[in-house]
Amino acid sequence: MTTSPTRASLERAIQNGEFVLHYQPKISLATGSVVGAEALVRWNVGATIVSPDDFLPLAEESGLLHDLTLGLLDQVLDATASISNASPGFALSMNVAPDDLAANVISGRISKALERQSIEARNLQIEITESAVMSNVETVRDDLLRLEALGVKVLMDDFGTGYSSIDRLSQLPFSSLKLDQGVVKRMGTSRRNLEVVKASISMARELRMTSIAEGVESSGAYDLLIANGCEEAQGYWIARPMSLDELHGFIDSPPLFGGSQIGRVHHAILDLLHFRKCLVDAVFCSADGTAHALPSVMYPETGEDVEASRVGAWYFGSGRNLQGTHAYRAIESPLRSLHEEGRRLLESLDDAAVVGDGNARLVRLDALVEELISLMHQLERELVVARVP
Ligand code: C2E
Ligand code: CA
Ligand code: CA
Repeated sequence: MTTSPTRASLERAIQNGEFVLHYQPKISLATGSVVGAEALVRWNVGATIVSPDDFLPLAEESGLLHDLTLGLLDQVLDATASISNASPGFALSMNVAPDDLAANVISGRISKALERQSIEARNLQIEITESAVMSNVETVRDDLLRLEALGVKVLMDDFGTGYSSIDRLSQLPFSSLKLDQGVVKRMGTSRRNLEVVKASISMARELRMTSIAEGVESSGAYDLLIANGCEEAQGYWIARPMSLDELHGFIDSPPLFGGSQIGRVHHAILDLLHFRKCLVDAVFCSADGTAHALPSVMYPETGEDVEASRVGAWYFGSGRNLQGTHAYRAIESPLRSLHEEGRRLLESLDDAAVVGDGNARLVRLDALVEELISLMHQLERELVVARVP
């Protein structure tokens, strides 16, 4: 833009509908398919397109951001309705600032759209940056909780730049961590920088959040993220932000992106070890006959349902697209047995007759764990071979 924007020019532009959204696709790293897009605002001034960094700060300072956001939300709701008709699993995300959330207006509007059934909650997501959230926790908490209650996912944007404590992070209803593009770009420059990305992906996994990397600018970065089990990616190497029409075309015939679960299989192995470790701890701590005094949080998730356990959630969920491999099919039976064994083991912790029998029970458990790990290693090898052209 040749001249700097003023409050008056921004106000006029809002009234004239000069703010439009461009959409940048997001890819599933497990399958290579398009799973969503992020809406990014642009200001059309004649033939010039002005980027948000050049007008959002003024909009915020001059109190116009809220009106701007509400106009964009209407555009996002329309786009969500039009895309989800053709692609039911597709999710559009929209950026908001803390002030936007202060008066519960965002959740109110979305709630109305859901009532009208013009959109489904799973097709819409909200992004808010880590630093904005952390300096405005009290302002944003209510609206975020309302959005969560509506079933709209909230993504923490620019993760890695805002010093969030893991405690705070786990108290707000985020469903995903978007790794900051600076963090992602530096990943390939040193082992230490790569460890930062790996730790962020692990943290997302531990908190049962989706990991999304942005700023993916090369096939090397794309591969590294797959290898480390990151779930989704966005960046210039995949696609630049585009118009809604172009996005429809992109969804219908995306360029071919490779996808693999190799990093996710490694995570499943870690989850398996974690499951075993929880059971070992429970047996260890109950060895003096005081199992009833143990806090339930130290037990692994062995509810009735194997599909709700960590490994099960992967195996029966996104892991399903590995059904074509031998190892995948062989995993189900020992996985169910392990879950059952774990459940029985926990049930018997308070039983005086079996206290002291910890070793024998762990031997049975370990045989299953070892069988499963061996199958998962086989699965990894099958995935490596599948990649070789
Ligand atoms: P963001 O939310 O982190 O969005 C990602 C930005 O990185 C976008 O810039 C996108 O075009 C750019 N980008 C994506 N992939 C790559 C890549 O591979 N390399 C590089 N170098 N850049 C990449 P954009 O569209 O200029 O937006 C800048 C920021 O403005 C956004 O950062 C977001 O914080 C804010 N913003 C954009 N649209 C909105 C909006 O509607 N509302 C609000 N409140 N903020 C918005
Ligand atoms: Ca964003
Ligand atoms: Ca970002």
